[in-house]
Amino acid sequence: MEYSPYFDPLLETLSREEITALQLQRLRSTVEHCMHSPFYAERLKQCGVSADSIKSLDDLKRIPFTTKQDLRNTYPFGIASVKPEECVRLHSSSGTTGNPTVILHTQKDLNEWAAAVARCLWMVGLRPYDVFQNSSGYGMFTGGLGFQYGAEKMGMLTVPAAAGNTKRQIKFMTDFGTTAVHAIPSYATRLYEVMEEQGIDPRTDTRLHTLIIGAEPHSEEQRRRIEEMLGVKAYNSFGMSEMCGPGVAFECREQNGLHIWEDYYIVEIVDPETLRPVPDGEVGELVLTTLNREAMPLLRYRTRDLTRILPGECPCGRHHKRLDRMKGRSDDMMILKGVNIFPIQIETILLQFEELTSNYLITLETRESNDEMTVEVELGQLFTDDYGRLQELTREITRRLKDEILVTPRVKLLPKGSLPQSEGKAVRVKDIRKHF
Ligand code: ADP
Ligand code: ZN
Repeated sequence: MEYSPYFDPLLETLSREEITALQLQRLRSTVEHCMHSPFYAERLKQCGVSADSIKSLDDLKRIPFTTKQDLRNTYPFGIASVKPEECVRLHSSSGTTGNPTVILHTQKDLNEWAAAVARCLWMVGLRPYDVFQNSSGYGMFTGGLGFQYGAEKMGMLTVPAAAGNTKRQIKFMTDFGTTAVHAIPSYATRLYEVMEEQGIDPRTDTRLHTLIIGAEPHSEEQRRRIEEMLGVKAYNSFGMSEMCGPGVAFECREQNGLHIWEDYYIVEIVDPETLRPVPDGEVGELVLTTLNREAMPLLRYRTRDLTRILPGECPCGRHHKRLDRMKGRSDDMMILKGVNIFPIQIETILLQFEELTSNYLITLETRESNDEMTVEVELGQLFTDDYGRLQELTREITRRLKDEILVTPRVKLLPKGSLPQSEGKAVRVKDIRKHF
């Protein structure tokens, strides 16, 4: 059977003019609907914006940003635009500091979220005859239910394996003929390690051809490794609970930037310090306005994720803008000896050494009143225990890291399996500096 390359041809191939017109119309109705939110009714009154006063997309800038703190301050239901009894689902973030945040969904929200995820899965070439296994935690983490409903809507046979129990996960893959897996990138690597231990070759012993990787920052090197190890194509998936979850932005088969669905969101990239827009192509903080949410629309939400809009058009035929892979969150940035460093810069260098695995940990600590960085990384299985060769390798890694991040880290090469493995998002940085 022949299938169209688009899940939703009409919306996926809108021209720029059509996107702008649709966004304007949806922005007006979103602002109108936000009058039902106690928080936004007050906000919009203060800044004097009403649906009627929005004449162009530029008028969006008259509305102040919404922050995670606003979500916390209005916990649990104060920002919602409908009453909780009109909703059918609630997701909540962990909230390690202060109040957690709550995201409410009506049935319509869930249907549209599923449609967005289905569109993404179709875009990377998955079709109803594929078998889709999801290794995300189910529950509050939106990577579980988000992919589940999207993959079902697309018509695939789904295997809601959930997180952990890697041996069972692999057994499902071989027994059920899984062709596509959704996994956090660090877990994709773990899957391969366990397959290796069990003497399973993913290329010949499974039918896997596609991996969806996301939920945490990862480098291009990391993606290529996952592709090579598992013999698959791996596509970057970006989302966050505040914007429903997965399905916000996704790579197409070109693997060159993530299309962000502009019929669902208005995208802005701003300088996180000055909050002014940065020109297309420059890195800044991603700010999103939802255009189709019923329970909890968000206006100009500061995601804290740093990225840029890639210039030019994508050959796939979709005009929805493309985001570059995320550099990390503004709060992932480490400042060491006055230099700003992102973990992803370190990962990019480490993975250029084929002797190293992608399991690494960055520790920041104070020694004799100096702040220092230690980078621990695991060696691949087949690597030598020749001391001289290891020293030489350590020196070379240190040199390359220093070139990239401008400070000299202490590099420690560890045997495979030494660093802690997490079932969820990988913990890459441990900051135990003393702040005087
Ligand atoms: P939490 O806020 O507890 O981490 P979420 O599941 O809502 O829970 O996480 C969303 C965040 O995860 C995003 O804001 C972003 O920082 C990160 N993230 C999600 N997908 C990607 C991706 N493909 N690349 C980089 N970071 C990602
Ligand atoms: Zn494309």
